Amino acid sequence: MRDSRYYTCNYCFKEFEPKRRRVQKYCSNSCRSKAYHARKSMNEIQDLSLPEKHSNKDNSKASESVSVAGVTNAATGSLIADGIKALATKKENRPATKGDLNLMIEKFLGRYHLVKNLPANAFGQYPYYDIITNEIVYLQNEV
Ligand SMILES: [Zn+2]
Repeated sequence: MRDSRYYTCNYCFKEFEPKRRRVQKYCSNSCRSKAYHARKSMNEIQDLSLPEKHSNKDNSKASESVSVAGVTNAATGSLIADGIKALATKKENRPATKGDLNLMIEKFLGRYHLVKNLPANAFGQYPYYDIITNEIVYLQNEV
């Protein structure tokens, strides 16, 4: 059994005799500050790596054209569409008609959103998610 007067430093794992019991996790100020910075930079690395998971995972031409056009993926598109619906309802104090919404969606978001995880068809046409009809349609790359 280890002497219970001693704590193990959370950073360097050395045993030390705490000056203040219970609250002291590190053997020294320098370990405490190193541990803090290590945690902080870990968080920064995780923050930075998040967007990369979504963009350009494959180097196909299709995904490049999406980022150039600034088109969002289908899921994001329908989320934004819900937001527009809420805004339109609030502003004019009446529910927007389906036609109004479709017009706004086409104008602001673009109707067709390239589907990244489906290949082009035999005609070299790419699959697009049509946010008006909720269907996949095959179109030439430029929409
Ligand atoms: Zn230490």
